[in-house]
Amino acid sequence: MLVVQQLSHSFLNGTEPTRVLIGIDFRVERGEIVALLGSSGSGKSTLLNLMAGLMKPTEGSILIADRKIEKMNENELAVFRRTHIGFIFQSYELIPHLTVRENVELPLVFQGLKAKLRRERALTLLTRVGLAGKTELFPSQLSGGQQQRVSIARSLITEPAVVFADEPTGNLDTATESEIIDLLLELNVNLGITFVIVTHEHEVAKRTKRIIQLRDGRLVEPGSDPEPLAAETDVAGADAMGTVAA
Ligand code: ADP
Ligand code: MG
Repeated sequence: MLVVQQLSHSFLNGTEPTRVLIGIDFRVERGEIVALLGSSGSGKSTLLNLMAGLMKPTEGSILIADRKIEKMNENELAVFRRTHIGFIFQSYELIPHLTVRENVELPLVFQGLKAKLRRERALTLLTRVGLAGKTELFPSQLSGGQQQRVSIARSLITEPAVVFADEPTGNLDTATESEIIDLLLELNVNLGITFVIVTHEHEVAKRTKRIIQLRDGRLVEPGSDPEPLAAETDVAGADAMGTVAA
């Protein structure tokens, strides 16, 4: 579903290029839910933006549904992104003057789908994410967690190959964070949605079946760097158990 090969990326700061990602290799199978874990500045958002086709990598390749996205021209990429890639932002990025239902329908407007079909699909998804009674409200009338549910419904409306989420619970309190992660896990299990979820929190990452970890722009492979990874996992385990007990 998603294959990242020898991916490197540099930003040009003034005259000096800064390497932010170095030799990244991994794959995500259809129906997997993966956490991309790393501390602030480790390159998580850069990697996610490259995979979502929002920027072109300096080196390496990204395959999504067997298509090399870095080989596409701007138009091909724009169409591919709208049909095959879902994205969930930390700050929801809903359009304030559109209703909840209209926000969810928007990707289908770009696809030229008829209004009746758009409405049906949006209402089905909004019910799925627990917002059946909120469809005609505006985003500002919802809580943060509810707004993120709208954004999740919107990310799924085109039935994308993969959904990327960049710190989707970063603006939410702990209880709401847990509800949103429950929802993503449930959508993965019951609808088979493939998710890559960026987080800097071990407690969030621990809830997915698989964790890939970035450190200073490089992937920390499980097994290749056992000591620091094992130590961090233990700490996260203790925290998570403490939270559950409390
Ligand atoms: P994370 O999401 O893990 O916090 P980022 O991918 O946002 O990390 O950033 C990784 C590094 O790349 C940081 O050092 C950051 O300052 C740098 N960086 C990110 N975006 C840009 C940019 N557009 N121009 C220059 N440097 C950038
Ligand atoms: Mg980030």
